[in-house]
Amino acid sequence: MKIAVLASSSRGNASVIAAGKTTLLVDVGISARRIRLGLEACGIGLGDIHGICITHEHTDHIGGLAVLSGKTKVKVYCSRYLRNDLRELAPDAAYAFLEPGTGVRIGDFSVLPISVSHDAVDPLGYVFEADGVRLGYITDTGRITRAMLPALQGVQALYLESNYDPDMLHNSGRPPELIERIEGQWGHLSNSQAGDVVRQIAHSDLRHIILAHLSPECNTPACAAAAMQTVLDELHHPAELHIARQTELLPWVNV
Ligand SMILES: [Zn+2]
Ligand SMILES: [Zn+2]
Repeated sequence: MKIAVLASSSRGNASVIAAGKTTLLVDVGISARRIRLGLEACGIGLGDIHGICITHEHTDHIGGLAVLSGKTKVKVYCSRYLRNDLRELAPDAAYAFLEPGTGVRIGDFSVLPISVSHDAVDPLGYVFEADGVRLGYITDTGRITRAMLPALQGVQALYLESNYDPDMLHNSGRPPELIERIEGQWGHLSNSQAGDVVRQIAHSDLRHIILAHLSPECNTPACAAAAMQTVLDELHHPAELHIARQTELLPWVNV
């Protein structure tokens, strides 16, 4: 199994994962054109995509869906409670509805949707399994939910939100209610909360950690990486650390 991140931050998120004969997009929060160019840089085309898995309906996760679903005609997998929102946005797409905790088969992948805690309609994280390995995919969550930890035990790779540094957030000049939202239990994971996730699920076969959804204003790649590296050093853990960025492709990481 392998994953590449076409873009990630509060301004737009899209990843591609592939195993066996199956290639999936996870979130499509950038333009269809950028997705096509990103896929081309990964050596694949839009025609190679078998499905699109959506985490939740915020624009930075579905902004490209209407155009993209028209172009690809592939099935869109999302929470059943998103049915009306997405049908309004992309009425011609074919949908398959997911239930947190109930796994589905998508081509060569087993996909387990898991509940996360975010101010959206039934937001989902995922565990993707194929080729005998598992990838946890957790973004846009204000806290570590009860469902999350058991589902993430034993993953070989983890795509994980590391949204903000608390000091930078408080010094950002943002309105207090926005700061409260971001820090709240329906908001986003800070660098240190991301570290807590890794502390709780680290095991000897966790090979890759991809830090994602960094806020451009309230975090920096260096700051997020340093916070997670401190945790890995503390655990004497050799996992390889990757940072997903908004404007640069994170090329294929082989899980
Ligand atoms: Zn987001
Ligand atoms: Zn969101």
